[in-house]
Amino acid sequence: MSEATTRRMEKIVSLCKRRGFIFQSSEIYGGLNGCWDYGPLGVELKRNLKDFWWRRMTRERDDVLGMDGSILMNRQVWKASGHEDTFSDPMVDCRACKGRFRADQLPEKDGEKFCPNCGSRDLTEPRAFNLMFKTYVGATEDETSLTYLRPETAQAIFVQFKNVLEMSRKKLPFGIAQIGKAFRNEINPRNFTFRSREFEQMELEYFCKPEQGQELLKYWLEERLKFYEAIGIPRDKLHVKNISEADRAFYSKGTFDIEYEFPFGIQELEGVAYRTDYDLTQHQNASGKPMDYYDEETRQRFVPHVIEPSAGVDRTVLALICNAYDEETVTDEKGKTETRVVLRFHPRMAPIKCGVFPLLKNNEALVAKAREVVALLREHLFVFYDETGAIGRRYRRQDEAGTPFGVTVDFDTLGERGPELLDTVTLRHRDSMKQERLPIKELLGRLSPEVR
Ligand code: ATP
Repeated sequence: MSEATTRRMEKIVSLCKRRGFIFQSSEIYGGLNGCWDYGPLGVELKRNLKDFWWRRMTRERDDVLGMDGSILMNRQVWKASGHEDTFSDPMVDCRACKGRFRADQLPEKDGEKFCPNCGSRDLTEPRAFNLMFKTYVGATEDETSLTYLRPETAQAIFVQFKNVLEMSRKKLPFGIAQIGKAFRNEINPRNFTFRSREFEQMELEYFCKPEQGQELLKYWLEERLKFYEAIGIPRDKLHVKNISEADRAFYSKGTFDIEYEFPFGIQELEGVAYRTDYDLTQHQNASGKPMDYYDEETRQRFVPHVIEPSAGVDRTVLALICNAYDEETVTDEKGKTETRVVLRFHPRMAPIKCGVFPLLKNNEALVAKAREVVALLREHLFVFYDETGAIGRRYRRQDEAGTPFGVTVDFDTLGERGPELLDTVTLRHRDSMKQERLPIKELLGRLSPEVR
């Protein structure tokens, strides 16, 4: 990483803490590596992302249903899925500094890998390290009660496939979507929240006939790229990596990674994989329960194939923040220049949609009117009322929070300069800092379509 990008990342991390987007988990006790807490603004941002994904992927479609599976599942699930035996990363130890690293992420010089911590080349041979967190269910802690915190949400969908199929009577192709926590004991959590040990996934399993697989893989890749654009991440910051046959899972007939240009490099946001009938067949064989589908047209029974777009909530939140972060030099009316830090979130993702400000806090009529505006908007969008400090400072605070709109109630609103301006307010736009005057009754109509 260059000095400038390191500096940019440091500023983003510090803004996240200062403004309450993301805190270190258990911070007062020194933290817990790979775990993060979302503060008041972070939780709104994350929720907006998940809600929009849910809306686009399930509610606005006839062919996708939702579910919410448990985090703890029968251990047999993880045996059948292959996770117990093979969900591991290659780990090496540095003999000099005792650091532990993922073998496939070590830096290399002159064809030789070295320790990213101390530079030593005295490294152990790689050995497989299973990433699943073990836990015990019930009062006895032995092999019979062992299970794992789920390392992905997908398996709950596969094992409920038959139940959903039977209750919904859907025809192929159709999908099941889920958002939820996943846990991986990553060897090296790093790059802020990018690689965490506890994180959330948004996954769709889209079941189809074998002959539809390749076409639907392309379809879902395109849909997912459109999704990122719809949340404000421009296409030119996204990269599609076609994973070669040698690098993808043996059962996959095609996998694309959607990557984003983070300050620390181009890294994966989401995998879109054609997983064939691997997962359902594994569960059918291991459980002895049929996982097949009866095609009334062809009168054939077969195990459906599946396309899986699997996205990370936390990684996308981080991409949204990195993408939104901007600094610019602005000059005020008195000719003073200062740096304005602004998060240019798409209004649809912004945690707070609109700030509402009475010009003065010690004027009852102004405060009452501003409160009226809050009550009018609150039912439809998340607004933030702020009466403290100079109006310019209040705008800056909302710029840093990424709030796209600000409404100021002033003496004109009260009609003090004539009846034409009575019940009108100033609407300020975050990105251009332009201001316009409009009647309070038109506010909702203006803001609603932008934030939806
Ligand atoms: P990586 O190669 O980065 O470890 P992966 O290819 O193992 O990721 P998948 O198993 O495909 O990841 O998981 C799907 C998505 O879940 C990823 O694209 C990512 O957005 C998210 N994800 C996976 N591991 C983590 C993690 N440790 N922290 C945050 N998000 C993660």
